[in-house]
Amino acid sequence: MQSVTVLGATGSIGESTLDVIAQHPDKYSVFALSGHRQLEKLAVQCLQHNAQYAVVNHKSSAQQLRALLADRKGNTEVLYGVEALCEVARSAQVDMVMAAIVGAAGLLPTLAAIDASKKVLLANKESLVMAGGIFMQAVKDSNATLLPIDSEHNAIFQCLPESYLNGDQSAVKKLILSASGGPFRDWTLEQMKLATPQQACAHPNWNMGSKISVDSASMMNKGLELIEAKWLFNTSAEQIEILVHPQSVVHSLVQYVDGSVLAQLGNPDMRTPIAYGLAWPNRIASNVADLELGEIAQLSFEKPDRERFPCLQLAYNAAAAGGDAPTVLNAANEVAVEAFLNHRIGFTQIAQVVENTLSECVFSEPESLEAIQDADARARVISMALIKRLEV
Ligand code: NAD
Ligand code: MG
Repeated sequence: MQSVTVLGATGSIGESTLDVIAQHPDKYSVFALSGHRQLEKLAVQCLQHNAQYAVVNHKSSAQQLRALLADRKGNTEVLYGVEALCEVARSAQVDMVMAAIVGAAGLLPTLAAIDASKKVLLANKESLVMAGGIFMQAVKDSNATLLPIDSEHNAIFQCLPESYLNGDQSAVKKLILSASGGPFRDWTLEQMKLATPQQACAHPNWNMGSKISVDSASMMNKGLELIEAKWLFNTSAEQIEILVHPQSVVHSLVQYVDGSVLAQLGNPDMRTPIAYGLAWPNRIASNVADLELGEIAQLSFEKPDRERFPCLQLAYNAAAAGGDAPTVLNAANEVAVEAFLNHRIGFTQIAQVVENTLSECVFSEPESLEAIQDADARARVISMALIKRLEV
């Protein structure tokens, strides 16, 4: 029996994780769940999964959640704050941690799980983009097991030879990340200027949280994934190709030196990579529908358009600049996406805010977690000021 902490349990990945866990009560039990705003949902999850702990952000949320649980005679102990999140990630009673908080808020608890040598299922790509060097060094030092849950990286992980993961990359020529192209794949820049949050969040294939949905629409998601792949697979951005594949069936590919290309396919349902991560190195059922290629009939591929999707180019630039440039890219993007979701800026202004924030920052090689948090905070101040100026 493996004991699991799900950070970000109330989100899209969190819910899918609990769905898979519930299918295998003989294999997994829930130690702790975390959530931020959806307290009613978190209370129901705690009761359903008999969680020992629940963690929320603030004291007032903890009080509300305790009241909700007391009404239903729940036994879950409620904690709050970042230190509590880290505690339930590093506890000696935990075997596995699903890191599914969205954004930079996920960094510290994910690092806590890594430092405690846990098996970490990484959905929270922003933490790796923000702090890649320090993050991967922590994985090395602690001997933690890091398994990618992002569908593309999970696909690549499945297609790589064992020798690659042990340090010999000679058999592999390049990694090919597939991208759906998002809801605005065929839109002109003029049309995108008027895009609403609702349109940006209406992803054609995947049902996801609002932040990653907007990132998919701007293709910043693929830019973040490029940087994520660079760190996870210890390679350079030049060895990663991005390929638009609107059906989201081929989740990513690995090209070998002999001309072979291996791909992982499946329906676009995150329960597949989640089940893979939970059971690794074995396999378990996930309740995902069988892939019916005869019915899908056609799979198509095209090159991405970096002009209509400038966020992709910005991510390439940040990856090439290195140091804390990806930290700045990520922070500016988080601030800009939130401003877009709150109707403060237009869709195409997301890229503008990120670009201008990057150009106002001087990059350096962050030596410590504090230096990264500093760069993140500075970038947020700059992008918030830029957004204020765009509003008037
Ligand atoms: P979501 O918005 O549905 O859920 C986010 C979760 O994080 C919620 O539980 C929320 O309560 C919690 N959270 C939000 N802000 C927080 C804060 N400040 N402090 C603590 N907790 C906070 O997002 P999601 O779609 O589940 O995505 C989660 C992560 O997984 C993201 O990093 C995303 O990029 C990544 N991911 C998601 C998908 C997907 O299909 N949804 C696929 C690949 C990767
Ligand atoms: Mg992905």
